Amino acid sequence: MFKSVLIANRGEIACRIIKTCDRLNIQTIAVFSDADYEAKHTQLADLAIRIGPSNPAESYLNIDTIIAAAKKSGAEAIHPGYGFLSENPDFAQTVENNGIKFIGPDPEMIRLMGLKDQAKRIAQNAGVPVLQGYKAKNISKEKLLEEANRIGYPILLKAVAGGGGKGIRRINNETEFFAGFDQASKEAQLAFGNTEMMIEKFITRPRHIEVQVFGDNFGNRIHLFERDCSIQRKNQKLIEEAPAPNITTQVKEFLYEAALKLANAIDYKGAGTVEFIADASDEINVDKIWFLEMNTRLQVEHTVTEQITGLDLVEWQLRVANNEPLPLSQERVQIQGHSIEARICSEAVLVGYLPSIGKVNKVMLAENLRVENSIETWNSITPFYDSLLAKLIATGTTREQAIKELSKGMRQSEFGGIKTNLNLLVGIIDTPEFIHGDINTGFLDDYLPFPQQSEPPPNSVLILAAAAVVDFYLLQRRNWKTGFSHWHCHRQTIALNRSNIQYDLEVSFFNSNTFKLRFADAISKCQLTPRGIFIGLENVSHKVYVHNSQVSVYETGLWEFSFAREEFDHLDESRTSNLIISQVPGLLKLVNCKEGKTVSKGEILAYVEAMKMEFTLAAPSDCVIEKVFATNNSLIKAGEKIAQLSANN
Ligand code: ADP
Ligand code: ADP
Ligand code: MG
Repeated sequence: MFKSVLIANRGEIACRIIKTCDRLNIQTIAVFSDADYEAKHTQLADLAIRIGPSNPAESYLNIDTIIAAAKKSGAEAIHPGYGFLSENPDFAQTVENNGIKFIGPDPEMIRLMGLKDQAKRIAQNAGVPVLQGYKAKNISKEKLLEEANRIGYPILLKAVAGGGGKGIRRINNETEFFAGFDQASKEAQLAFGNTEMMIEKFITRPRHIEVQVFGDNFGNRIHLFERDCSIQRKNQKLIEEAPAPNITTQVKEFLYEAALKLANAIDYKGAGTVEFIADASDEINVDKIWFLEMNTRLQVEHTVTEQITGLDLVEWQLRVANNEPLPLSQERVQIQGHSIEARICSEAVLVGYLPSIGKVNKVMLAENLRVENSIETWNSITPFYDSLLAKLIATGTTREQAIKELSKGMRQSEFGGIKTNLNLLVGIIDTPEFIHGDINTGFLDDYLPFPQQSEPPPNSVLILAAAAVVDFYLLQRRNWKTGFSHWHCHRQTIALNRSNIQYDLEVSFFNSNTFKLRFADAISKCQLTPRGIFIGLENVSHKVYVHNSQVSVYETGLWEFSFAREEFDHLDESRTSNLIISQVPGLLKLVNCKEGKTVSKGEILAYVEAMKMEFTLAAPSDCVIEKVFATNNSLIKAGEKIAQLSANN
């Protein structure tokens, strides 16, 4: 076995890889950027080497510096983890060219599966069903529209080089096509340096089911069963489980066979995941399952497969890279029980999943669960990297038991000082639909149970909703850097709308974090804390969230209200609608944002990249850019002015 391995990654996955290396007596070398000076992976490794500034392009994505660190430390192999350079064929090739072992498939296999359209063609030739779609080299958008019309709407536009849920747009009809195309290809240019787009038939109630495969250098190739990853937000996974609930043995066998057909077609080596999409509008059957893409690396959710097979997939990766045969044959891999993983992310669910950044002042993680974490108290969550904080993994003899354990563990877990999605995760796994395994990728948007539209909401639900809306307004104002002085003396009305009925609640402030809400005879004192909203004596924050101009309360069903986002705007004198301001901190990418330029309503002026997500800033009306305050490619703070536009006309 290798004497030493360099881990070209950070966060929970770097820590996870170190654990297996320790057990196998392999020396570990961590690399870190300035932002990660005190990160846990640097402490766990036997040696840690600085590779550059916080910006990933200059550190975790810098091939030359990583190779230099490997050579300096005498590392015999490099594990790329996931994300960053893990699916970069040039990196894999450079590693090998330098006489170091790359822990992953050959560069050629990464390259073949790297572009989605090419991967689909290879899959189709191997006899794996793919979705109806279209892609040709250097195709005009007019031609692509013709093809979209032929396939029929809705369709999905996808960046050919895409990954991590980016560069994907749903197009519902012909009139949305060109605007959607322009936006998605710009996003793809920024994220992947490649504007090529393809179209694909959109599946309306899909489940994402994937198969773990493994191959070695001796022609052995096996599957390690399936995982369901249908609970997603923004086309990114949130909750994953193995095995997949509510599918027949026949469907499972079909998936394993299809995954192996593709793996065999490219002589695949190492760990890989073949992703499929299944139409779940009815019972899932083999005629309605299609290949999506193949990820040529260890997957974030590999843990649930480990839990039910009792295997260590990082160990398998190391053994294959060390030219050993797969430790087990297909017949000898058995599964037992059920496992579910939930991803805790630092994000403000209440305001459309905006990244949350700051110092962590408390870390409490469930004792009854497997925990993969790298965050310690007083670590800072910075805008440079992914929002994934930790993974909670529950395992039980049945799915029911795993859900119970996960629910219990989540309620005992907490990251203080920053906003996380823990409350949303609890809300999801508590719904009867999730418990029944009635899941699809639209679960969060439209599959939580709605109470009858005619049913009047209880007062407690209205108070919860209004408190969340106040929190939302305050969060926005904080980003606009104004004090809270206006709030003290003001009594305000919050208008919530549901089924065309308006509910007016009165809010009066004691101070910036404490206020009173009144509806009919009910008066409640509310307090905003980093942990959520406290109402009366009960912490009920996990039951409320705000998304766009909707507020949702989860209490025996999902109560949704709409509210006017501009409602409190007149209170904030500093806010002028002709200023372009970013609500999130991050890396600014200006798009033709030049002084004197005339822009039309909806035209994109800038993107802000934070934690692998992108936030678009568009012109609110037809106007002229009068002044640009920020520079391209610079780091900006939340609330920082980017540009000033001429007054609306
Ligand atoms: P998995 O299937 O392993 O869950 P994800 O789609 O969640 O994969 O991606 C794993 C990690 O890699 C995430 O941190 C994600 O943000 C990142 N990632 C994957 N592909 C890309 C990409 N092309 N560009 C940027 N980040 C990516
Ligand atoms: P990425 O490389 O970003 O992971 P994928 O092709 O794997 O891109 O798609 C990511 C997610 O987008 C899927 O898990 C699924 O939720 C959704 N998606 C992808 N293709 C389709 C489709 N044709 N119809 C409906 N949803 C889709
Ligand atoms: Mg994918």
